[in-house]
Amino acid sequence: MRYCKKCVLPSTKPGLTIAEDGVCSACKSVQAKKNIDWRRRYVLLKEFCESIKGKNEYGYDCLVPISGGKDSTYQLYCMKFVYGLNPLAVTIDAHIKTPEGIQNLNKSVSSLGVDLIRVNVRPNTLAKIRREAFLKIGNPNYGEHRVVFSAVARTALSYNIPLVVWGEDIGVEFGGNVSKSSIDSGSAEDLINNDLFREIAFDDLIEGQVDENTLFFYDHPEKSLLAENNIKSIYLGFYQWWDGFKHLQVAKNFGFKGRLAGPLSGNIINYDNIDERLCEVHNWLKMLKFGFWRPHDEASYLIVNNYITREEAVERVNKVKYDFPFEYFNDFLEYHQLNEYQFWEVAERYRNKDLWKKINGNWRLIYELM
Ligand SMILES: [Zn+2]
Repeated sequence: MRYCKKCVLPSTKPGLTIAEDGVCSACKSVQAKKNIDWRRRYVLLKEFCESIKGKNEYGYDCLVPISGGKDSTYQLYCMKFVYGLNPLAVTIDAHIKTPEGIQNLNKSVSSLGVDLIRVNVRPNTLAKIRREAFLKIGNPNYGEHRVVFSAVARTALSYNIPLVVWGEDIGVEFGGNVSKSSIDSGSAEDLINNDLFREIAFDDLIEGQVDENTLFFYDHPEKSLLAENNIKSIYLGFYQWWDGFKHLQVAKNFGFKGRLAGPLSGNIINYDNIDERLCEVHNWLKMLKFGFWRPHDEASYLIVNNYITREEAVERVNKVKYDFPFEYFNDFLEYHQLNEYQFWEVAERYRNKDLWKKINGNWRLIYELM
């Protein structure tokens, strides 16, 4: 395990590579983005938007999946005011929302003046799938990722909306598996094939656990069906430089507020991933598996966009990286019907002993970030 010399991401991050010069693939792709002709890409999308504008029978030119977070609020703002379209917003209702999450979503929809479709998959099915995914593969969010991508595609099909606008390609921004179509054309059509779906087949995960008739929103429609209906999915991050901190400033103008009590345990910022309560523990499991989690991602993002130095990042990450997301731990246990013993029994299975050792009774990483 080693760390990128420009940001603080480790070589253990899935999909990330660190070259001989010590710089990781995520930093290299950010560097490459500096040579992109962004004006040309803006015009490209603007022209496409003009070609679809006003043609949908229900009046919706594009579909924007939103959570009420800073980036999705920005996407909605951008499609409406920069590209001049009439967007329909769609939200996949999370399991346990935070007050900030509820307020920010309501604010962005009302202040931006758009219609919102809410897809709320039945809670007992989702809870069962999440529990199975935690117990079997240590990845409780697995089913949820499927719902997000599949339900958005189903909504686009239902209203025949020609354009679905996703935010950033996390593979490009944070390092990870990136599809060629995403790099070359900004297409998000391979979303369903991305690395979130590879640990275990969904059907194997849920076999015998849930009624198949409750899974409509978990099944992504065939890509060919979307193509036949001329539905295009894009990453907005392909068409403009993606800077979450700038999006925060725009979102604030439309009522967005960060977490009032400050950053959650293990976080260094208070304005990302604040809508719901179950993802923190999910994300923290990466610390056991790969030796990094939220603070490494957040700090690296701030470094590559020149908001903090690497030195500063190292200090801030080291201060919080061993923290446990205790704020929502009870919610996590209760939702998945687990007791603490069961949780730790499963979680410890995923601690990578090549990365961890016990010092004075505390688990510590063998390769510290410096
Ligand atoms: Zn890097």
